[in-house]
Amino acid sequence: MYEIHGTTEKNYCMKCGKTYPADHIFKSKERVPHCDCGGMIRCDVTLYGEQLPEKTVIKAINAIKNAETLIIGGTSLTVYPAASYVGYFRGKHLVIINKEHLDYPLDPETDLEINGPIGEILSRVIDREST
Ligand SMILES: [Zn+2]
Repeated sequence: MYEIHGTTEKNYCMKCGKTYPADHIFKSKERVPHCDCGGMIRCDVTLYGEQLPEKTVIKAINAIKNAETLIIGGTSLTVYPAASYVGYFRGKHLVIINKEHLDYPLDPETDLEINGPIGEILSRVIDREST
């Protein structure tokens, strides 16, 4: 899994770069958590206006290029550049799981489209797997 928009599970000091787990943030009594060095701690997510992490993006694109099946889930594919990564897919099977039908020109064409909330759909897949 490549988290191109980062994760709130990882946090770091904006001054010295020391990393902190999410637990540290949740247990902090400070309104804005600070590092031992005095720097502000922020979550490791890409905010609007910031660059996506290049190495992670390259890994994600390579994974899409080499995949036989691509499942696009829980997105309207309207936020770029991430939405454009679908264009790198050259595999055989494209599956979309989204609340609403996607009016997005996909090449190759979609093999399967499931319309519903992704959490609900994937929970049902897991339930079926375990029975
Ligand atoms: Zn620090």
